Amino acid sequence: MITRLSTLFLRTLREDPADAEVASHRLLVRAGYIRRAAPGIYSWLPLGYRVLRNIEKIIREEMDAIGSQEVHFPALLPREPYEATGRWTEYGDNLFRLKDRKQADYLLGPTHEEMFTLLVKDIVSSYKSLPLSLYQIQTKYRDEARPRAGILRGREFVMKDSYSFDLDDAGLQAAYDRHREAYIRIFDRLGLRYVIVAAMSGAMGGSESEEFLADAEVGEDTYVRCTTCDYAANVEAVAVPTDAPVDASAVPPAHVEDTPDTPTIETLVAALNERFPRTDRPWAARDTLKNVLVLLRHPGGSVEPLAIGVPGDREIDPKRLEAQVAPAEVEPFTEEHFAANPSLIKGYIGPEVLGAYRAGAIRYLLDPHVAEGSAWVTGADEPGRHVIDLVAGRDFTADGTIQAAEVRDGDPCPVCGNPLRTARGIEMGHIFQLGRKYADALGLQVLDENGKLVTVTMGSYGVGVSRAVAAVAENSHDDRGLIWPRELAPADVHVVIAGKGEEITEVAELISGGLDRTGVRVFLDDRNASVGVKFTDAELLGVPTICVVGRGVAGGVVEVRDRASGSKREVPIAEITERLLEIVRAG
Ligand code: ATP
Ligand code: MG
Repeated sequence: MITRLSTLFLRTLREDPADAEVASHRLLVRAGYIRRAAPGIYSWLPLGYRVLRNIEKIIREEMDAIGSQEVHFPALLPREPYEATGRWTEYGDNLFRLKDRKQADYLLGPTHEEMFTLLVKDIVSSYKSLPLSLYQIQTKYRDEARPRAGILRGREFVMKDSYSFDLDDAGLQAAYDRHREAYIRIFDRLGLRYVIVAAMSGAMGGSESEEFLADAEVGEDTYVRCTTCDYAANVEAVAVPTDAPVDASAVPPAHVEDTPDTPTIETLVAALNERFPRTDRPWAARDTLKNVLVLLRHPGGSVEPLAIGVPGDREIDPKRLEAQVAPAEVEPFTEEHFAANPSLIKGYIGPEVLGAYRAGAIRYLLDPHVAEGSAWVTGADEPGRHVIDLVAGRDFTADGTIQAAEVRDGDPCPVCGNPLRTARGIEMGHIFQLGRKYADALGLQVLDENGKLVTVTMGSYGVGVSRAVAAVAENSHDDRGLIWPRELAPADVHVVIAGKGEEITEVAELISGGLDRTGVRVFLDDRNASVGVKFTDAELLGVPTICVVGRGVAGGVVEVRDRASGSKREVPIAEITERLLEIVRAG
């Protein structure tokens, strides 16, 4: 197919869109691939839509290859199935809800576990129909709190979601493994640099789950990788081992001291070193216990305060905390709640007023770095006073532990103890072993070999299809524009008419026609624009091979440029179709 830029529905922009913070967003808008319709909601223009469909094609091929069958559900869904699994409430504000003219509740599907479970229940009644795997490529809706970076985090987005149905755990494991392999092939074909990491299953429920994260500084996910063994995990899923108990027999009884004007860890450590110097070493933030208060808003609206004790040298990681308390949402502790809990003295909160085992007190969870027997400096629950030598287990206890503190570069690997490295990525795919949660809630059972009813076990597997367009752009661009891998590109060869004369146009038409007849997808820049504009746009649009037909024509040559490397060479016109075909076929 020849796409003539003179008639293509395209307008490239020289200026970055004002709201674009990341390169993929800037370039996709400037190159005329997508256009914002509303916050987190984008329209696909011809070139963007081609790339999207090329990605869909790769996904379809790989899903078909593992025997998954394509179906297509509505996006507009009834409330009842989501009510039955609790997700109508659990999804909270992320769910787009609407009513029909009869005031019945509907939602725009954020993910389709319920619908697939019910469809299979409708049609399948015997073990003979299993194993079964179904998928769809569908528009999803989530009213994200922070839509971001164009189509990277949209409120409307395209997802491939698939679901496996098996009789037993071994079947589920096999389906999961097949999906994992298919995902590896998909992300390899997308040309992404990615890692596979252990993940939390979040709102889905279920147990084993892994994410495919594309390497990207702008990614919203932080993951860790062990510098020695093959452990890799999203920080949300890192289980920091509890520090081993320490012997507290030599620690003197706890004593309360005046520490005026020390509401922060920094001021406290300075005051300790000045007024209560240690003999062995200076006090450090690591010696202090900071008690952080938050509010949990549970699905349905009830609000519960929560206190978390962490060593003073660590912050709470909001994403780790959210993952631990989901489906509850985390909100800041307000002045109003301080007023309602007069025993809490801001900046001087100690463990002795915390712990749900005390009537009316706030639930208190400790970071696993707070070992049994370890001694701390912490708030004395009086303004300007701290307690020293307060020993965990001896002088205070908590209601449990929580994995909510930040995981840092250099922290020990939970598997082998060697240092971890942190990096950032974009979540591209997520595979889960759901187990029987949805089948139980919705009554999906089949008759087994012995005629006994058994509950089916399920897996759920997602790929961010529209997000992949942005992730590939993020992974592969330079300051002049996009650089598409050939399989994803909106065309194979971008022919530029770089000069006025009739001969130049004729040669360009001839080359384009020759390529087109062999099935190569061609852009022909036949616009009445300057050569400079055409070159700038060719680099912005990101087609992998550029063929410049210009002054060289008089001497019988045209120029072939490789978009990724920038390398250029002259090729005799007589050979050009053949040379370009070689390049295209080499991939
Ligand atoms: P995230 O943690 O990024 O919000 P998620 O864990 O909620 O994603 P899943 O429910 O696992 O997402 O959805 C499967 C896939 O759909 C994700 O791996 C991601 O690639 C894609 N996806 C999820 N939310 C969005 C979104 N708002 N915009 C674009 N793609 C998304
Ligand atoms: Mg996910």
